[in-house]
Amino acid sequence: MTLKQGLMFINGEWVESTSQKTRTIINPYNQASIAEVAEGIESDAEAAIKAARTAFDSGEWRTTPANERGRILFNIAAFIERDKEELARLETLDTGKTLIESREDMDTIAGVFQYYAGLADKEGGEIIASPIANASSKVIREPVGVCAQITPWNYPLLQAAWKIAPALAAGNTIVIKPSEITPLTTIKVTELIEEAGPPKGVYNLVLGPGASVGQTLADHPQVDLISFTGGIDTGKKLMKSAANHVKNIALELGGKNPNIVFADADLETAVDQALNAVFLHAGQVCSAGARLLVEDSIHDWFVEQLTERVKRIKLGDGFHEETQSGPLISSEHRTKVERYVEIGKQEGAKLVIGGQRPDHPDLQDGFFYEPTIFTECRTDMQIVQEEVFGPVLTVERFHSEKEAIDLANDSIYGLAGAVWTTDLKKAERVASGCRMGTVWINDFHPYFAQAPWGGYKQSGIGRELGKTGLEEYTEVKHIYQNTQPEPIHWFK
Ligand code: NDP
Repeated sequence: MTLKQGLMFINGEWVESTSQKTRTIINPYNQASIAEVAEGIESDAEAAIKAARTAFDSGEWRTTPANERGRILFNIAAFIERDKEELARLETLDTGKTLIESREDMDTIAGVFQYYAGLADKEGGEIIASPIANASSKVIREPVGVCAQITPWNYPLLQAAWKIAPALAAGNTIVIKPSEITPLTTIKVTELIEEAGPPKGVYNLVLGPGASVGQTLADHPQVDLISFTGGIDTGKKLMKSAANHVKNIALELGGKNPNIVFADADLETAVDQALNAVFLHAGQVCSAGARLLVEDSIHDWFVEQLTERVKRIKLGDGFHEETQSGPLISSEHRTKVERYVEIGKQEGAKLVIGGQRPDHPDLQDGFFYEPTIFTECRTDMQIVQEEVFGPVLTVERFHSEKEAIDLANDSIYGLAGAVWTTDLKKAERVASGCRMGTVWINDFHPYFAQAPWGGYKQSGIGRELGKTGLEEYTEVKHIYQNTQPEPIHWFK
């Protein structure tokens, strides 16, 4: 593995933490040490903000022609494609996810850089018809400034790419802080960004704990925008921090996403995709279909089919071809999942399968948890309302289209959901009734660079990806010009 270990990237230089401390990164499959990375502290975050501020205020990057910024992003995309295998292997080592999935992530990530590379010079602004004679009005978009980007551990590089690419395309400067437990691919991509060569200080990487390094980024008066993906409690804290200086803020805080299956659906496909919806990456997906809503008439059959298929899910090392699902990210996170399963049992949900750690001897060193299904669930249960972020599916019944929509919307979250039916008019009605940022019809999980991603309600604020994802990193400016200025004699 070639990776700059023990270093962060600040003002165009690879530097140690001022604390001189490092952190050992472990593989969640077997707890083996895989890297030694810098453990940044508050003063490192401050140095990175200073570098990003100076680079922004110098104007060099934001006045670089947009097509030139786009060219640099195209180069980053090309380097990601070139180093795809190494990046994918690092991601699997760091997160435990299967190599197949990590490879798909890398394709998507290269695509995100390509998309924003292409979009960088497409925003021309507009001339608007001024209601005032002898005047011209134009509306342009400018970069917001210094962007603090804080990313989670479940899709480390994917979440970073969704933030880095549009921010750079729009001419901002960045300080990014990945999750302290999964920083490896963000370090590697920093090497590739350095190779692509934006001016020094434009892109900065700091490592270290959220509570100190992340919080410094959020609190600092020289930061203009916070973009955060992670848990709802941290999101609320960051909103409060942003309020102190009225910073721009973009939040992606996950969801408890309903997967609605009507009796007239292609049921074989719906069963297959319901498994994928919830158990992909051991359920550690913000858009996981963790809440299955099934029409009463097919409920028992559907659960039976799911249960049979769950028995065949092969847990294991993400590097083995036959592995279908890896471990959870950490011991603490597994404890959280276990606590939720206990809560589910106490609330009266019926445990159909799973609900424990696997007993296979090969899986004892990793943070594995068996895919779990609860039936007899009600919307007022904690296990149905809260984001478990693990391989736990709750199943509820519904009797009518209206009840399905009402149940789906009975949540503080509104990130994503899906509806399965062969009646496409019904599908459109349900999609329109669901208060969520994304609704899939007869599918689950597709997301891509061209379409916006984000949540209604407490799932967040703002959108990533698509044109909206670029606009998040811009301010709108109106420039008005009086073409024949003359005194108006208002004051005599
Ligand atoms: P967090 O929200 O704590 O972490 C996400 C990122 O925020 C990490 O980089 C973290 O740093 C950082 N962070 C933590 N506290 C602060 C702070 N005070 N100021 C600034 N940054 C901070 O998520 P967890 O890892 O603890 O996971 C908790 C829950 O969040 C999960 O169980 C899951 O339900 C949900 N989650 C949702 C995700 C989503 O995609 N929406 C992704 C991941 C988790 P560090 O961890 O390095 O200390």
